[in-house]
Amino acid sequence: MARRTKILATLGPATDKEGVLESILSAGVNVVRINFSHGSEEEHLGRVSAVRQWAKANDTYIGVLMDLQGPKIRIASFKDGIKIQLNNGDTFSLDADLDENSGDQNSVGIAYKTLPQEVKPGNILLLDDGKIVLEVVNIEGNKIITTVIQAGVLSDKKGINLRGGGLSADALTEKDKKDILIAAKANADYVALSFPVHGDDVRETKELLKQAGCTAGVISKIERAESLVEEVILDIIEESAGIMVARGDLGVEIGDPQLPAEQKRLIKLARSNDRIVITATQMLESMITNPIPTRAEVFDVANAVLDGTDAVMLSAETAAGDFPENAVRTMHDVCLEAEKNPIAKVSHHRLHEHFKHIDETIAMSTMYAANHLGVKVVASLTETGKSAMWMSRMSSNISIFAMSDNLQTLRKVTLYRGVYPCGIDKNSAGDWSQVNEIVIDTLIKNEVVEEGDLVVLTKGMYKDKSGGTNMMKILRVGDTNY
Ligand code: PGA
Ligand code: MN
Repeated sequence: MARRTKILATLGPATDKEGVLESILSAGVNVVRINFSHGSEEEHLGRVSAVRQWAKANDTYIGVLMDLQGPKIRIASFKDGIKIQLNNGDTFSLDADLDENSGDQNSVGIAYKTLPQEVKPGNILLLDDGKIVLEVVNIEGNKIITTVIQAGVLSDKKGINLRGGGLSADALTEKDKKDILIAAKANADYVALSFPVHGDDVRETKELLKQAGCTAGVISKIERAESLVEEVILDIIEESAGIMVARGDLGVEIGDPQLPAEQKRLIKLARSNDRIVITATQMLESMITNPIPTRAEVFDVANAVLDGTDAVMLSAETAAGDFPENAVRTMHDVCLEAEKNPIAKVSHHRLHEHFKHIDETIAMSTMYAANHLGVKVVASLTETGKSAMWMSRMSSNISIFAMSDNLQTLRKVTLYRGVYPCGIDKNSAGDWSQVNEIVIDTLIKNEVVEEGDLVVLTKGMYKDKSGGTNMMKILRVGDTNY
């Protein structure tokens, strides 16, 4: 049985080392993440082209997700790059008027100049992913005076979060707008939008992508407290190809104890609205420096699978860790085992709902038939991947083959749980009615089915019409006439 949950791995200096990229791709990475927070344009484009070359040489499909940095709110730097020790009860200031490189034991500059206008006494500021906690006691002009309530060592450019959220920084920075052009140049399959506050941020991103001629889907990273409000999150989901449960920043803003319940809610919301969902951050954190995970990390990955995530993500574990290949192998093994649990196979999706579209109805009926008849695979002839998306929202253990000659569709479905991209040469069917035979032959060639197996096939009336799926046919491999 193939793994259904997809693995998204971040590329970085560790995967640039000789042979490492090949080793993680061979170990089962489905989609790579290029992080615009680090690295140059040449590095990004070089990594994308290395991945695409490998995929081509290995006759497979790997998706490319390019992650915009967004308005990460940071402190400026310290004099001579020193680190300072902050102790409980110390007074420490964040000063928007201070020069960029002149932080010391008493104060440090801020890259986000309007911060003093957006906080008030009593607010809690979390620095360096919550490792240091400051309470605002007073605002004096452009200077925020705070008391240290959780001690720690502070160094250059660490992030600042406000407990409860509410900072007004725009989701798309000038840098993000330039990076969208790089994503277009790289022909990215997905672009991740950091810190969206509402659906308008997603709409603006889609407009910029369109202007740049980029067909990438937008993955909205849910990492702001205010985006969790029901109507806001539904609007963001509706506008996006998918969401990422960005547990790093989100956990700092809302507090870690709230995260597990939010993760479950977000995964459910994305799936029930026919969108992709990725679970991210610190999934195998200890593997940055250790060859094996902690048991808690194994549980975390498995629980995300049981929650219904499409993909699990590796960040520094692959980008900058000492054991990138082990991290991917660990995820592969844990996902595969978790998927055997009955919870991962049973679906109540849309049981009592009306369908709006013909192709959606075919997709849902197909999964119902496939599950109840016990077929080997579902084969969906698809131009856009939409039918495969609908099918994959139903939990099951039946493999869904998205069969297409559209390269971007084949790369996009790499993120869909339970969906496998399968290239097919539609044009070799002189007559569209002969395509059934080509589908079965392709599945046999890929060693997915053998004589006697049942296949449910879906397709439209015409070869190149997108959104036209209106037929379902059940075929037995080896029959003389399909
Ligand atoms: P980041 O996003 O790693 O780009 O910050 C993920 C997160 O915040 O969890
Ligand atoms: Mn983040």
